[in-house]
Amino acid sequence: MSLNALFPKLSLPLRGLQLLRSRTLTASSRPYGAVAQARSVLETELESIRVAGTWKGERVITSKQGAHISVDGSSGDILNFCANNYLGLSSHPEVIQAGIEALQNYGAGLSSVRFICGTQDLHKKLEQKLAQFHEREDCILYASCFDANAGLFEVLLGPEDAVLSDELNHASIIDGIRLCRAKRLRYKHMDLNDLEDKLKESQSSRLRLVVTDGVFSMDGDVAPLVGICDLAEQYGALVFIDECHATGFLGIRGRGTDELLGVMDRVHIVNSTLGKALGGAAGGYTVGPKPLIDLLRQRSRPYLFSNSLPPPVVGSATRAVELLLASNEIAQSMAAKTMRFRNGMTQAGFTIAGAAHPICPVMLGDARLASLMADDMLKLGVYVIGFSYPVVPKGKARIRVQISAAHTDSDIDRTVDAFIQTGRKHGVIS
Ligand code: PLP
Repeated sequence: MSLNALFPKLSLPLRGLQLLRSRTLTASSRPYGAVAQARSVLETELESIRVAGTWKGERVITSKQGAHISVDGSSGDILNFCANNYLGLSSHPEVIQAGIEALQNYGAGLSSVRFICGTQDLHKKLEQKLAQFHEREDCILYASCFDANAGLFEVLLGPEDAVLSDELNHASIIDGIRLCRAKRLRYKHMDLNDLEDKLKESQSSRLRLVVTDGVFSMDGDVAPLVGICDLAEQYGALVFIDECHATGFLGIRGRGTDELLGVMDRVHIVNSTLGKALGGAAGGYTVGPKPLIDLLRQRSRPYLFSNSLPPPVVGSATRAVELLLASNEIAQSMAAKTMRFRNGMTQAGFTIAGAAHPICPVMLGDARLASLMADDMLKLGVYVIGFSYPVVPKGKARIRVQISAAHTDSDIDRTVDAFIQTGRKHGVIS
């Protein structure tokens, strides 16, 4: 919650409050009234999070990201099962080397947005490779996929248009849609009948855009893209997918959910991230029709008003994409590992949501239980994290396990054994 939301009447930005506080403390030992009030409101809010058991602590990793990591406060080698490092490329030697070379040849950063003096040939090269990878006309880079989602809808859709969005879409899509002036219709999660109703309801709109995550990150479920594309074609709508949890490893060549479901030529716009399977550094992008990408370069606010991606990040991501363009071996290596984990856990009596995706949510229900179990897993040398409200709905707390191509079979078996031990201790399984 923002401070302005807390104090609609005062409407003081945080920096202003900090300044007031430091001035007041030097001028007098008495705290300035508004600051004391702000502290009290904030402390109450923080306490309510603690009491609800939904406090999100941050464990500190003291090594590279990878399947095996070091964690501050825990001794020895820790198995990491909660990164979005689906292909293990975050610490791939060639990806690291490409980052080092880009740093040496192109510097630490651009100190500029793209259209002033922030475009290097390496940004153009990565955009070209990503367009090639997704088999789309063009690509535009952003500092993150959050930005790509924040910057797209407002540019494409006006008040005469409509956006039809799955109710469980990622927060950044929801925020991006809030910024646009199109008519907003939210359809029930993956419900094609409800989507059709909303398409009928919006028939008078100029452009209509169906918006869905390709894979939903909390449940690991895959959007019914064939049905969505059928309906979109029937009612004359465009289709957008967010591929953050699919790019690089779903589909025979790792191109994503659209490849997996055979609809690459029927999905019009794709947003995705460089911060997960594609090297894990940072950055996001949109691929799609050239006129759309051209217009985004002119009008998309997170692109126009935010710094260019740093050269080392671009260098590493480019190498990651090149590795995937050259071979589908890494992308394919993950499916068997995912099934090994899912089968082991299901046989032990756990409920795992989703199907056949490396996001394997171990469903527990209670927020505190999820958090306690995650702590106990770490004591057994396995780093996993409990997810609870507001990240997932109330009563649907879970530990979200994520499989990586970098995990070995024995890493997976060790983790299943640790879950069995911890699950028995907490009465989750018998
Ligand atoms: N979309 C989805 C579905 C995500 O899971 C995420 C990241 O958590 C994002 C967008 C934002 O990606 P980025 O980290 O590149 O901002």
